[in-house]
Amino acid sequence: MTRVIYGNELAKRIKDEMAIEIKDIVAKGNRRPCLCVILVGEDPASVSYVKGKDKACKEIGIESKMISLPFETTQEQLLSIIDRCNQDDTIDGILVQLPLPKHINEKVIINSIDPGKDVDGLHPVNVAKLYSNEDGFIPCTPLGVMKMIEEAGINVDGKHVVVIGRSKLVGSPVSRLLLNNNATVTMCHSHTADLKAICKQGDILVVCVGKAKMITKEYVKDGACVIDVGVNRVNGKLCGDVDYDDVFDKCSVITPVPKGVGPMTICMLLKNTLKAYYK
Ligand code: NAP
Repeated sequence: MTRVIYGNELAKRIKDEMAIEIKDIVAKGNRRPCLCVILVGEDPASVSYVKGKDKACKEIGIESKMISLPFETTQEQLLSIIDRCNQDDTIDGILVQLPLPKHINEKVIINSIDPGKDVDGLHPVNVAKLYSNEDGFIPCTPLGVMKMIEEAGINVDGKHVVVIGRSKLVGSPVSRLLLNNNATVTMCHSHTADLKAICKQGDILVVCVGKAKMITKEYVKDGACVIDVGVNRVNGKLCGDVDYDDVFDKCSVITPVPKGVGPMTICMLLKNTLKAYYK
């Protein structure tokens, strides 16, 4: 029997626990944790993501500060706003919604965020901490993936995990996180030879390739756990990087799209904000 791990249900449980924790913090006379999200421009997908983050914060009692800036905002203006947020002791987490307009250098902006407030886990200090297995902020999607594997009752220690994708945002940090937890990790990418044969060796398959329904049953070992990070829109419908119906009977655990890793990403952003608050 294949078990489906629903990220929306798991996220709800974690958010309910955090809501109780925050209620308790406030009842004791402390200020609320606060996340500041900065959006430059009006890209519809970014506007929608930012709204989702604002709503999720409010649902569990995190104060949400939204700074919406016009597309024409210069890099210097954005740096000065981030500097103010860095200095503001009532702000725990800072998130700059990506992508930024082309005239702003993303690297410069990410590097300007106080690493102690970098709840997206993209600042080089936090990347270095992940790679040296020290406590820092870990990007939200990889954290969500780990929580889903844990929810499936799987201990990754000693397991062979095949990760398809090596991006800075997902594939690389999730691979490192798995390695830190004693998994044997194979990272695949667009130059990998004989991808199918490698994938078929994985006890766990983490798919973050960005290609709709690319992973079919030929890539999956019998009884594997398949985590689908992909989010694609095909004919107006959301789907993952895994061909869900095709692989379903072959695996022991699978995550759906939608209602899979996506809701866990926002949930982990809230967790990181709470962590920044305690720090
Ligand atoms: P990305 O930056 O485009 O990276 C894709 C990776 O897949 C790259 O490493 C690429 O290899 C590799 N790849 C591409 N085609 C391949 C092929 N035919 N065979 C093997 N490897 C191949 O994408 P991303 O930002 O990591 O995102 C991956 C997916 O996750 C997307 O569907 C995205 O929408 C989704 N996502 C979901 C969430 C969420 O919250 N659920 C968050 C972030 C991203 P090279 O390095 O060689 O180019």
